[in-house]
Amino acid sequence: MGQSVGIIGLGAMGMGMAQSLLRAGFTVSAYDLSHDAMARARASGITVTTSPVEVMQATDAIVLSLPLARHVEETIEAGFAAGMFANRQGMVVIDTSTSEAAVSRRLAARLAEAGHGFLDAPVSGGPQGAANGALSMMIGGDTNSVTKAQPVLDAMAAKVIHVGDSGAGNIAKLVNNMLVACHMLTTAEALRLSEAAGLPAGDALRVINSATGRSALSEVHFPNWVLTRSFDSGFSAGLMRKDIRLALELATDAGCAMPVSELVVELWSKARSGLGDTDDFMLMGDPDARPKEE
Ligand code: NAD
Repeated sequence: MGQSVGIIGLGAMGMGMAQSLLRAGFTVSAYDLSHDAMARARASGITVTTSPVEVMQATDAIVLSLPLARHVEETIEAGFAAGMFANRQGMVVIDTSTSEAAVSRRLAARLAEAGHGFLDAPVSGGPQGAANGALSMMIGGDTNSVTKAQPVLDAMAAKVIHVGDSGAGNIAKLVNNMLVACHMLTTAEALRLSEAAGLPAGDALRVINSATGRSALSEVHFPNWVLTRSFDSGFSAGLMRKDIRLALELATDAGCAMPVSELVVELWSKARSGLGDTDDFMLMGDPDARPKEE
């Protein structure tokens, strides 16, 4: 891979990853449907393009950061339709979107046939991790593509874990986010109990974070975005609902019973009318801060 990288999707995560790549010395070209995102990208030294195909033309390393598996698939198909993969060899697509293992496997097989690599490389660490090049990245795909893409991966992530073959990255990410969804509700409930029994939530968190009940939610999310009442973690409730829906679909496909997770998913769905898809997902941590159900 050379010193240029293309990014398609410049949202909360993609923009931060683009900044980390610039800092690491890469030339970055990018595309997003949103004009605002493109204007911000241009202002920060990113070469903006007029289409995803133009990004693919510009470089052999392409990072995707898109909301849904459907967007990932449509973007790659647009590349095939425009002949982007036909007369070249050795491109690597790094899909950092939280997507579906089956879609990742399908795209990896299709690109491999044409002589290119595809990695499912979903991430954890939020917009802050993306902006600081400090993400945890869980990768599914072939070792050759991982090796080729390593400098790009290292610029975006502090931890790069090659989990297994194509699809394994997305399985790991969905399992992780199912836990996040559960920890969100159980942490909120535990803090409610603490307050009701007379111990302020901040005091309870101080203890929990030195004891065995701690998690990323108690250590990072609740102190930063619930106790401060800022509710601005940069991760939307809509994307979280996507993740838990995909995790349950994965469980159904694998024939795995998930009684606790099903209950948690039901609680997340019940909050649908009170919590819009674009609202920050941390609003689930405090029912009083959420808009009332209709
Ligand atoms: P976001 O909604 O902030 O950004 C998505 C961007 O993609 C938007 O700018 C949108 O305009 C653009 N877009 C949508 N469809 C497009 C298309 N077809 N072509 C080009 N651009 C398109 O989302 P985000 O929070 O940055 O999340 C991106 C991905 O990363 C999602 O799959 C999400 O689940 C995952 N993720 C997010 C976080 C987080 O904390 N925000 C953490 C880990 C993983």
